[in-house]
Amino acid sequence: MALAGDDRTYLVGLGSNVRHFRFGAPAEVLRAAVHALAQEPGITLVAASPIVASAPLGPSRRRYANAAAIVETALEPPALLARLQSMEARFGRRRRGQRWRARVLDLDIILWSGGPWASPGLVIPHPAFRHRAFVLAPAAAIAPTWRDPLSGLSLRQLRARLARPRPPAPLARPSARG
Ligand code: ADP
Ligand code: MG
Repeated sequence: MALAGDDRTYLVGLGSNVRHFRFGAPAEVLRAAVHALAQEPGITLVAASPIVASAPLGPSRRRYANAAAIVETALEPPALLARLQSMEARFGRRRRGQRWRARVLDLDIILWSGGPWASPGLVIPHPAFRHRAFVLAPAAAIAPTWRDPLSGLSLRQLRARLARPRPPAPLARPSARG
């Protein structure tokens, strides 16, 4: 992917499991969020994945919708995260008193073109993404050859590894979702 000028390329993970008073169900929230991302000044939307519905995690019975997007911007990682968090707030996300399980919109930085990054409140690659099918499936759909700088594995490989957690699986292979 060609970089113009100072642009950095980011892989952003999107998630929702709460209805929005105007946009509606989580999948519709993400459609609106991708549209809003494309409208953000100084941010170019390069690709957006299909929106996938996932089973709820943990004791919550909510449905999740997830997606991934590739954006280009001159913003450094902390500045992009601040922009993403202000988008979350505009979508009605309230951090105070709200557990991680319930959110109108969650926007995470999964990878960027600059390799590993760590600063207060921000770690890239996102520390949990290698174990989350709901992140890897949409991410691998738009950036299958993008490599995790820590493991050296591509998103396609990480996703395949997640679907087959135990290497020697001669006959009965655990069935993998999505
Ligand atoms: P979740 O981990 O489920 O996305 P939050 O969205 O509430 O939960 O994020 C918690 C904190 O994670 C944020 O305040 C942010 O500072 C921090 N964080 C660290 N690394 C990242 C990243 N790569 N992308 C987004 N947030 C991050
Ligand atoms: Mg988040």
